[in-house]
Amino acid sequence: MSANNAPEPRYWEKLRLIAATLKAVEGPVVIIAHEDPDGDALGSTLGLYRALKKLGKEAIWIMDPPRFLRFLPKEEEYHPPLERLPENATLVVLDAGDRDRAVGAPVEGFVINIDHHGSNSRFGQLHLVDPTRPAVAMMVKDLIDLLEVPWDPEIATPVLTGIMTDTGFFKNTNTTPEVFRVAAELVEHGVAYAELADRLSWRPPEYFKLTSLVLGTVAFHFGGLLVTAHVTRSMVEEAGAAEEDSDDFVGLLKTAEGSVVAVFFKEREDGVKVSIRSKNGVSAQRIALALGGGGHVPAAGATLPGLDLEAAYPKVLAAVEAELRRVGLLP
Ligand code: 5GP
Ligand code: MN
Repeated sequence: MSANNAPEPRYWEKLRLIAATLKAVEGPVVIIAHEDPDGDALGSTLGLYRALKKLGKEAIWIMDPPRFLRFLPKEEEYHPPLERLPENATLVVLDAGDRDRAVGAPVEGFVINIDHHGSNSRFGQLHLVDPTRPAVAMMVKDLIDLLEVPWDPEIATPVLTGIMTDTGFFKNTNTTPEVFRVAAELVEHGVAYAELADRLSWRPPEYFKLTSLVLGTVAFHFGGLLVTAHVTRSMVEEAGAAEEDSDDFVGLLKTAEGSVVAVFFKEREDGVKVSIRSKNGVSAQRIALALGGGGHVPAAGATLPGLDLEAAYPKVLAAVEAELRRVGLLP
């Protein structure tokens, strides 16, 4: 497994082709994203869905959002997962590195794949993969401009959400000047920014109980270069929380002074899921690829099927150690 992290050379050409294709479609457009959807998965799909509806297209948006994002879609916008695609459908898959990562509908028929994961398998009849784009929501912003849909707060709000969450609220290294320019433009289209930022940060009471349990597992390795923590299913149960309540913890670990890699382990029924974050030239993506996963250079993940936490830790530590050696941080 490897990643092609080069910018998409024919970005605008391909995006214009995608816009022309979507403008011309007569059948339904089904829009889906990756499993365990994050703000970019939800924001980019919901923004495109609303824009296509405004164009008068028949659009179907399929997602099961985590609780902290559930305030964004309206009740009537939800559609149950599809076993089969409707006749004459076009499938748009956003923010999903591979066809296996996409959920909600079978990835078949005419597929448009728009993503920013360097490890994307470039599936689909039309694919636009640009790892230099900070969020798929940035690509959807360009697409909506090309579709010439008039912007309104309903469309701009989810799109800005994707940009905010995938840049770590304008803190990650992918926060380019363009991110601020596009964000400013979206706010000009009527997004209630402070309200949105506040709403995105709400967490339920169970989250705080779970935090107290998870903090007890924080450990430092390799002289503090790596920081880890984990959540078990029994901790989630004890806190009365949901697994998604632990999605933020890797971001908290990342703030450990002196660390260059943060790994958060989630115990699942069928294995362990790891979230990996890195900085200072260390590649979370390389670590994830070594573990059979994928993602971006600074933020990546993997699923280790059939392992328990005790077996997952040494495997992950070995992959991190190899990457720390590669960049010369370990002898
Ligand atoms: P997170 O750790 O927040 O779940 O994911 C971080 C990044 O890595 C996201 O862009 C996500 O799509 C990617 N990622 C997470 N888990 C996996 C995985 O199991 N396989 C692949 N290919 N990518 C993953
Ligand atoms: Mn994304």
